[in-house]
Amino acid sequence: MKPFLPQNDPNKAQRQSSLEKGRKEYEFRYDFLPPLAMLKSVPPSENFSTKYIAERTLETAELGVNMMAVKAHAIWDPLDELQDYEDFFPVLPKPNVMKTYETDDSFAEQRLCGVNPVVLRQIKQMPANFAFTIEELQAKFGNSINLIERLATGNLYVADYRPLTFIQGGTFAKGKKYLPAPIAFFCWRSSGFQDRGQLVPIAIQIKPNLGKASPLLTPFDDALTWFYAKSCVQIADSNHHEMSSHLCRTHFVMEPFAVVTPRQLAENHPLRILLKPHFRFMLANNDLGRKGLVNRGGPVDELLAGTLQESLQIVVDAYKDWSLDQFALPRELKNRGMDDVKNLPHYPYRDDGILLWNAINKFVFNYLELYYKSPTDLKADVELQAWARELVAQDGGRVKGMKNSIDTLEQLVEIVTTILYICGPLHSAVNFPQYEYMGFIPNMPLAAYKPIQEKGDIKDRQALIDFLPPAKPTSSQLTTVFTLSAYRYDRLGYYEEEEFADPNADDVVNKFQQELNVVQRKIELNNKGRLVNYEYLQPRLVLNSISI
Ligand code: MN
Repeated sequence: MKPFLPQNDPNKAQRQSSLEKGRKEYEFRYDFLPPLAMLKSVPPSENFSTKYIAERTLETAELGVNMMAVKAHAIWDPLDELQDYEDFFPVLPKPNVMKTYETDDSFAEQRLCGVNPVVLRQIKQMPANFAFTIEELQAKFGNSINLIERLATGNLYVADYRPLTFIQGGTFAKGKKYLPAPIAFFCWRSSGFQDRGQLVPIAIQIKPNLGKASPLLTPFDDALTWFYAKSCVQIADSNHHEMSSHLCRTHFVMEPFAVVTPRQLAENHPLRILLKPHFRFMLANNDLGRKGLVNRGGPVDELLAGTLQESLQIVVDAYKDWSLDQFALPRELKNRGMDDVKNLPHYPYRDDGILLWNAINKFVFNYLELYYKSPTDLKADVELQAWARELVAQDGGRVKGMKNSIDTLEQLVEIVTTILYICGPLHSAVNFPQYEYMGFIPNMPLAAYKPIQEKGDIKDRQALIDFLPPAKPTSSQLTTVFTLSAYRYDRLGYYEEEEFADPNADDVVNKFQQELNVVQRKIELNNKGRLVNYEYLQPRLVLNSISI
């Protein structure tokens, strides 16, 4: 199948029949989670392959053995020691975070290279509608650090979960679940790890909606209170992670692109050929998620803090604030004030992510440049123009932050780079750390099981255990996150034979692979200077597509 732009294709009839087939097989629906555009039903050609199913089944075989052994050890309610949570891994590897999760270092580091490294933002003044002034915060620290100055110089950061305040909480067999909606402050301290400086947590307000009735807690509070406050942040972050960063802002926002592409670009259109491996299994996977993850009684309903309806509202809210142009990596980092390397010298998600972004950007440009030699080539490509139109249309993909026509190559390269970055690196960065950070439940529980104490005053260790998930949801959370992160189908930039059959493209793909190898070595070097190895953006561990 030789790639052609429509205006150069000698076989117009074949093109037309390819498009007609696409329009019949791929249709939108808007009723599952309005206003999100989703696929009506999965065409057979999009289903998981037997290779995928066989390999994924094999990769998850250990899980059954592990959970059987957990049952045999009769770890059952009530759990009475934090250590009891460590006994859920008789066969499976113990997550490394188990050794460090109680430390401030691990807590801060997870904002920069954990499972949800896209929440933290720089502040230059105190957040709007926040009860305390910087002077009141400073008062808690005496002369040990000048936070007023650190705020002015842009060295304070915030993880703000107040948008989750609307969640009332769902239920479990023995009662109610709860979701804290805290706000957490961090400071970049110029001394610390290897003289490079480090991020440290400085204050947490557990219930900002109560104003000053909910105090600013700090590392100077007693250890149990401070750990409780940090746990509240971790619970909010886990719910934000699954519904916003992971499900909405990778899986669901990419779905319209995979629906419109076969409807508007013929099978031998160069852009369709480029995108195909980056959409592989995503539609089947998203459909599986709708039927088996966010269904009534499914894992989201069972494990996340809100009712199913409330958890799905997080998805809808995340979608409202998402647009393609604002989520191009350089722009997204800038929007959070996290792009300044001098101010914040250590941010693994950014530092490794940019290497991948740049490699993808170059590859996309080199590839598309083979076909689009001038702006006229873009204008004359009626399929490409129809693709943009339908992506943006209300009765199409409803994609925001994109024009309904494509006028320049730079514009197209930016769009396609963003798609490839989200399907590859971003999804891998939020998907695969699930086991490491959420598999060990006390690090990142998906719900609280006792009402949230705004002053963080809990009585003793047992009260902390009662606040954390009981044995049954603990088993389910471990099972779910293991299943979601155990298998990698492919590898970024490595394509199966039939793709890029055009000899011109071979060179471009080879160059991309070489570039990714360079990035791999750079990241390995980066990791030598880090407290925690950040492995999730190493190109060899990044997938082409949202296939899990
Ligand atoms: Mn995923």
